[in-house]
Formats: sequence, structure tokens, C-alpha cells
Amino acid sequence: MTPRTTRAIVQTGPRQLELRELPIPEIDDDSGLLRIEACGICGSDAEQYTGVLPVQYPVIPGHEPLGVIEKIGERAAKRWGVEVGDRVAVEVLIPCGHCHACRDGRYQVCRGHGGMFGYAYVPITRPPGLWGAYADYLYLHPNAIVHRMRKDLPASTAALFNPLGAGFRWAVELPDTGPGDAVLILGPGQRGLASVIAARAAGADTIIVTGLARDAEKLALARELGADHTIDVENEDARKRVRELTGGRGADVVVEVSANSAVPVAESLWYAALGARIVLAGVKGFKPVPDFVSDLIVVKELKLIGAFGVTSRSYQAAIRLIEAGRVPVERMHTHDFPLEQAEHAIRLLAGEIEGEQSIHSCLLPGKR
Ligand SMILES: [Zn+2]
Ligand SMILES: [Zn+2]
Repeated sequence: MTPRTTRAIVQTGPRQLELRELPIPEIDDDSGLLRIEACGICGSDAEQYTGVLPVQYPVIPGHEPLGVIEKIGERAAKRWGVEVGDRVAVEVLIPCGHCHACRDGRYQVCRGHGGMFGYAYVPITRPPGLWGAYADYLYLHPNAIVHRMRKDLPASTAALFNPLGAGFRWAVELPDTGPGDAVLILGPGQRGLASVIAARAAGADTIIVTGLARDAEKLALARELGADHTIDVENEDARKRVRELTGGRGADVVVEVSANSAVPVAESLWYAALGARIVLAGVKGFKPVPDFVSDLIVVKELKLIGAFGVTSRSYQAAIRLIEAGRVPVERMHTHDFPLEQAEHAIRLLAGEIEGEQSIHSCLLPGKR
């Protein structure tokens, strides 16, 4: 029996989270209700928590939902090809389907609902309220995009569909990475490690990952997951090392997924080979980039590609890779938390907890 209320973490302002009990809505023919098994925690959760990423309050955070279909309308079941009891991964964006971006095949930047419309970004004051995955239950809007996943994997492993989907979109789909490419990944966090796995799966030649001195463990994990070389940018001459490791050519693909600092954006131009593709995916709080030498873009004919969000195609690639089980993706997963510890989980990812680091972590609402 579905309960009448659900627990949910509600954010009422920067650094203000509270556990509330909210009513579970009725489901019509076109919508559904998801029982959350796991919600991945990512860098943008930390930005939402501190207020760097502005959202409308009060809001339920959590945009990386994995769960089991608890209830579903008849038309929704047909449209999605799923039934009660199926496990699904849910995409963050809820596209309108008819704005310019949607018609142009760029639904991940849809603004047709009058702004960004997706899980964790719609206030609870908008019915039916359950718009975030830091909760026991999530409302499945008629335009939500769901992907069925195998049920025999641990929920925290299946929840890696999100960072891995980003890895496939940012390190493979957008820069069109393939055999022979030297791929340089700036930043060894969950998106950087996911980019390693995706670039390896795409047949990239040399894969190099950069990080700071304090990232030593993450860089070791990057090598375990398929990186050929890693560079500690604080203690090594990164430009020189990249040249050496690519036979003097530079990287054909540079993926910028570091957090906060804008320095790697300027550096990426120096690392790039002639005609290289540079993907910028790490947001910097709208800071300008110091020492940005645009002439390098001209003389090397570089392509700078902005990446916002993930596409169904890349989510599918990630899900197939996870389900195939050939890559030990679960090595990226470091922590599970019950719902009550949402704040600690976010602060840990943000590096605010002294003496402890997480890479990929999940809230597991079923865990008490
Ligand atoms: Zn995310
Ligand atoms: Zn749209």
C-alpha cells in the first residue's frame, strides 16, 4: 500500500534544509509515482545548497533519481513502456516538447516552461509538489524521460547512470571522440572519472587526467579506471607533460570538468593540439577567466564547445555500460547516506568536512 505522505528534504534558503512530511498526490492517466531507491549527489547539489546556483524556494533538491514505479497511469505506462515494479533512471530535465530548443533537438536546454524545468528546480508550491528526489517518492510528470534499468544491480551502482551519462556526453558525444584521439581530462572528480570511462569505451588512444596534490587518491582511481597518465598540476609542469605524453602534439580533446577555478579554462588552450575540440562543462560561478589568450583559438583553429546537461543517447550509453558489468564503475561510489543525512552528504562532496572525501555518493531513502 502506498502511504499517504512522504518524507522529503525541503530547502527554504541557502544552507537551510529541513525534513518535512508532504502529501502524496493522486496520479492521473498520463503521470506516475516513483518510489526512490537512490538519488545521486553531484556538484550542482552543493551549488544549490550554498545558493551559488539560484533556485526558487521552497524546493526539494535531488535531480538524479533512480527508483521503482509505484503507480502509473494507463497512458503513461504505454508511452514509457514500463509497468508497476519496474526500476527506472529518470532524467533531470522535463522538456516541454515544442519550444525552439526542443524542436531543434536540444531538449536539455529547454526553457519552454518559462525557465529551467526539471527535477530539483521546481518549487513545492507548484502542484503536485513532489519535484525533487531527496524524498521517499517523486512525481513523474507526463513529459518526464525515464530509462528502464536492470533490478539486480545495487541501487548505488545503478545510480551512476548520471555521472556516466555526463561522461559520455561531454567526453565522447560532443567532441566526437574516437580511436587515435589523445584525450585530456581536467579534474578527477566524479565527472572527470566518468569521462575517463567513457573515453576509454569510445576507443580513445591516450587518456590523461589532471588534478591537484590533494587529489592523489582520485588520480590513482583514474588510472585504475583506464587513464594512461595523471598529472599533479601543483607539482609538475602540466603544459610540458601534456606535450611529452602526446608526442609533442597536444591533446585532440580537452574536457574541462574541474570545480570552481577558472584557471584550467585558460590553460586548456595551451594543452590543445591543432584543430582540437575543447569541451567546457564545469561552471565557475560566472567568474571571468584570467589570462585567457584567445589568439590560441585562432592560430590552432580550436573548437570550444559548451556542455550543459546530458542527452538520452548518452544516458543510454552509460546504462548499457553499467549493465554490461565489464568496467568496475562501482569503484567510483564511495558513500551511501540515509535521507536524514542529506546535509552532511552535500557538505562532504563540497569538501567542507575536514579529513574526509567523497567521489560519488547517494542518498538511499529506504535506508534508515
Ligand atoms: Zn547532477
Ligand atoms: Zn522545450
